[in-house]
Amino acid sequence: MALRLATGNPHKLREFEGLLDGVGFVGLPEGFQMPEETGESFAENALIKARALAQATGEAAIADDSGICVERLGGRPGVRSARWAGEEATDEENLQLLLESTEPGDRLEYVCVIAWVDPAAGEERTFEGRCGGRRSAQPRGSGGFGYDPAFEPSEFPGRTMAELEPGEKDAISHRGLAARELRDWLEGR
Ligand code: IMP
Repeated sequence: MALRLATGNPHKLREFEGLLDGVGFVGLPEGFQMPEETGESFAENALIKARALAQATGEAAIADDSGICVERLGGRPGVRSARWAGEEATDEENLQLLLESTEPGDRLEYVCVIAWVDPAAGEERTFEGRCGGRRSAQPRGSGGFGYDPAFEPSEFPGRTMAELEPGEKDAISHRGLAARELRDWLEGR
């Protein structure tokens, strides 16, 4: 099976390739512009991206929207996780802002919503995954991406997401949980 994935993020593409075994991913069409993420929820933004790609190709498409929610900050940055330190912020700048805005041990949650949009069938679905953890004392590890060096998942106390093997992260991550929901639904159709 081949799926169209609306993302310009190579880290996400690599994770999806590991998560959805046997699924090939078709590249974005020439000239395709990712739409602005104007939604107020992860589901809205995932649907905006998947609809844009589905409309551009006439074929079914998926997209994910994800982020980190900090309990101390009332759930922020949430849907603004990619742009928290500024519109053009790098992963390093966003990570630095997390370290400055929180204390070691603070509760964190990663959230991922994957949207499936099939224009021919007029069908839209969303699948959500969540992963809880705490802020590490220091950023550690070189795996993963984004906020991973500061995120110690509950399932692996004392290790950050960036210190896990890719398969360990996939087994517990917000994206892994949402991807398995999508896979089960696709297989059951
Ligand atoms: P978006 O889904 O493209 O809007 O961006 C999500 C942002 O949330 C990323 O740029 C990262 O900053 C953060 N994020 C989402 N998933 C992860 C993850 O698995 N590890 C670390 N950071 C993540």
